[in-house]
Amino acid sequence: MKQTLKNMNITNKRVLLRCDFNVPIKNGNVLDETKIIKSIDTIKFLLDHNCKIIIMSHLGRIKTKEDKLTNSLEPVQKVLANLLNTPVKFAKDILSPETKTMALNLQPKEILLLENTRFLDVPNKLESTLNEETAQKLAELGEVFVLDAFASAHRAHTSVVGIPKYLPSCIGFLFAQELDMLNNYVLNPNHPFTVIMGGAKVDDKLSIIKSLLPKCDNLLVSGGIANSFLAALGLNTGASLKTENADIIKELKTLMFEYKTKFAFPLDAIVETTYEHTPNLKAINAIETNDVIKDIGAKTIAKYSSIINSSATVFINGPMGIYEETAYKNGTIEILNTLKNTKADVVIGGGDTISALNKLGFTNAFANISSGGGATLEYIANGTLPGLEAISEEDNIEILDL
Ligand code: ADP
Ligand code: MG
Repeated sequence: MKQTLKNMNITNKRVLLRCDFNVPIKNGNVLDETKIIKSIDTIKFLLDHNCKIIIMSHLGRIKTKEDKLTNSLEPVQKVLANLLNTPVKFAKDILSPETKTMALNLQPKEILLLENTRFLDVPNKLESTLNEETAQKLAELGEVFVLDAFASAHRAHTSVVGIPKYLPSCIGFLFAQELDMLNNYVLNPNHPFTVIMGGAKVDDKLSIIKSLLPKCDNLLVSGGIANSFLAALGLNTGASLKTENADIIKELKTLMFEYKTKFAFPLDAIVETTYEHTPNLKAINAIETNDVIKDIGAKTIAKYSSIINSSATVFINGPMGIYEETAYKNGTIEILNTLKNTKADVVIGGGDTISALNKLGFTNAFANISSGGGATLEYIANGTLPGLEAISEEDNIEILDL
């Protein structure tokens, strides 16, 4: 077991906390505070234990100097201070002597937020390529490292996996909560366990599909990924999005053969043609060369809903159709409605899936939403994450009194 915050000797210590504050920002304002709110429990616990808190996060993609202009973490300082009702200091230059002095001079219950860790990437990729020297310098700012950025833990970046080599480390409450949710409902589910896989590309989803097939009782295939399965079955999917990779098509065939009884495929689809943008309901075996599959149809919704309603646990990843377009959002809405009303335990994961449920009016409808995006899928596929691997083991007690 990995070390958790509750067992950690943190009282009065300088705690270096890696959060996921990768929030949408426009004109210097945070548009969605969800990720910051999710980190508050851990920060409050540290405040209650008189810690001096140094917080790090990445924000957006930083490839050039210009990217820095719109991706400062400074707007988060205000939001954090408001949510905690306490002042938050800000350090603009992460590796500077001034920042180190600020960190070393923090008093108990004081908070210092560091600028976007990805600013270290210009010009030398010191964050997104694991850099030992940088990890060591960051580690010098704290006495204990807490990793709460579950959504970043699939990346072997300096501020995620580099620091625990130099400091006693543990996971924070948000991280632990995400692991509990995925362990309990997805990796060790009550049966019948149904997995719904939608979204865009089968190439991105193959490893999670392969890891879940032995564990689940039903795999309902939907969205763009269904097209590749249908094509591998020899059906005409017209001009729909599908994989061109021959190895993947071969692998899909093998999986469909091996797990024949678990798979469910769409019976019908809402299509438009390449020359006319009018939605049209068609049976799956009536799809023609110019058709583009954009959503699931009513028969598929009914069949999938009935399987959901006879399940004990359901995990869904990926929208059922191109929900961004009004004419093709119905399949996703109807399946989310079924999930909202079913007695089964439901876990929802995936970056676009969460955007879809917010956009389609299901923001507060579900208790178990895994906020990890890529990290959620990778944890399910591999049962661990690079960030988690880097954290100290629970029984490694001597590290506590460093
Ligand atoms: P997540 O981020 O939740 O894992 P994905 O990134 O795999 O989900 O998929 C999200 C995208 O899948 C959406 O942008 C949606 O438009 C697209 N999608 C869903 N159905 C189809 C389809 N039939 N054809 C093409 N794209 C689709
Ligand atoms: Mg996505």
